[in-house]
Amino acid sequence: MTISHPEDQKSSTTAREPPLDGASILVVEDEPDLAEEIRLELEANGHPVRLAATAADGLAEARSGWASVFVFDRMLQGDDGLSVVEALRTEGVAAPVLVISALSSVDERIRGLKAGGDDYLVKPFDLRELTARVDALLRRRGDTRATRLRAGDLDMDLVERTVRCSDRPIDLLPREFKLLEYFMRRPAEIVTRSMLLEDVWNFKFMSQTNVVDVQIGNLRRKLDPTGARKFIVNVRAVGFKLNVEA
Ligand code: CA
Repeated sequence: MTISHPEDQKSSTTAREPPLDGASILVVEDEPDLAEEIRLELEANGHPVRLAATAADGLAEARSGWASVFVFDRMLQGDDGLSVVEALRTEGVAAPVLVISALSSVDERIRGLKAGGDDYLVKPFDLRELTARVDALLRRRGDTRATRLRAGDLDMDLVERTVRCSDRPIDLLPREFKLLEYFMRRPAEIVTRSMLLEDVWNFKFMSQTNVVDVQIGNLRRKLDPTGARKFIVNVRAVGFKLNVEA
């Protein structure tokens, strides 16, 4: 899939997403067992990982420029990881930050994002959820100028708000459009239910709802009334993925 910009429509070359494999991750977490679990999971997904257990070490490692993404625990032996994130932002360090924390209120989440965090994940979490979010941060690019998204047979015009599948127009309700846009910006990436609830529905901390599955079902039927193609596939126990293979 390519996210095409108006100026490169004529070109036959496609701008590839930067590879996710190999992107290095700094994990600042003072619980050794959790830090080790996160390291193993991220390494299993192809990421070199460095661990730091204190705010001071995390700050030093982050400043070194080695990592592409930072994962910061909030409570680090008396220090608040957010103060480190704030310091890094003040210094102009721009790498995306995933804040992980047992502090789960909406206020805390907002504090985390205001301090310069890009995403906030509440403990305890499924490690696959963490990986999906790290990958989402790596994928995030300055693609807000894109007016058109393409993934396989799917073609979305963000200005006209239209969608076509193999040139067949597909009539979507606004929420369905937003949902499909979310997938098309992340082709072949795992998208979790809570990512969808937070980013498409703006629901915070609501896990006991089937609204996502209901809307995915509606979207699937509109994309493919025959059911022959599986545009959005389930990823067992985690979420969904846009499948652009014919
Ligand atoms: Ca901690």
